[in-house]
Amino acid sequence: MKVIEFKEVSFRYFSPSKETEALKNVHFQVTEGEMVSIVGPSGCGKSTLLSLISGMAFPSQGEVKLFNNKVKEPSHRVGYMLQHDHLFPWRDILSNLLLGAQIRKMDVNEAKKRALYLLEKYGLGDFAHFTPGQLSGGMKQRVALIRTLVVQPDMLILDEPFSALDYQTRLRLSDEIWHIIRDQKKTAVIVTHDLSEAIAMSDRVLVMSKRPGTIKSEHLIHFAGKRPSPLQVRQQSDYQEYFNDIWKELDGDE
Ligand code: ADP
Ligand code: MG
Repeated sequence: MKVIEFKEVSFRYFSPSKETEALKNVHFQVTEGEMVSIVGPSGCGKSTLLSLISGMAFPSQGEVKLFNNKVKEPSHRVGYMLQHDHLFPWRDILSNLLLGAQIRKMDVNEAKKRALYLLEKYGLGDFAHFTPGQLSGGMKQRVALIRTLVVQPDMLILDEPFSALDYQTRLRLSDEIWHIIRDQKKTAVIVTHDLSEAIAMSDRVLVMSKRPGTIKSEHLIHFAGKRPSPLQVRQQSDYQEYFNDIWKELDGDE
């Protein structure tokens, strides 16, 4: 089943003084359960592409479909995770997690059960009544992912979710987040400028050209046997080969 479909999508930003062509003829699909990474130079339109998926912007040309329906408004089926956790510092973790459900007028008791279950399952059960300031950066990002899951989206989009973290935390957290997404069987699109992270976390890597961004190539990331976790991928002999192949393409653009 197709979850996302971009058909020859172009997008321009308009301001009183100028027009910026951010995306040009972007064409790709994502099927159910896939994890796809998008890499490309800074300013090539990666975040713009995610805005088109989430229904916060609409194509200037072409068409974006989610679950076979044209995107016309922000969709509750899409969970969005950003570089910064955007947790409210004065609310405890649990009440941060329930905010989305309250805004959407979902059953708050059900949401609370889900939130507590997810916290427990993903190692944060003891922190429900802590405030964000009492948690490490990596823990806060895990809470941010759980917050998107509490409202039960069908798919996730992640925009540079680890960029604000130090290297060790990034490695560990990308592994943890990958396990959670797999475990929850979510389709996911992850934008990153870190190629090694893209290869480690995804089934497919889409490489974008510099602005106006277009998908210039696609790479299936495949390992024999059971899919290794991101930390394991980095130990595989094929990993370096994938890296070198994709790097050559990126390098021409930076
Ligand atoms: P990326 O996420 O790949 O770094 P963006 O999608 O944020 O790139 O931006 C793509 C291009 O569009 C950039 O040149 C950026 O300056 C421009 N841009 C982004 N947002 C706006 C906006 N709100 N108005 C005008 N131009 C924008
Ligand atoms: Mg961006």
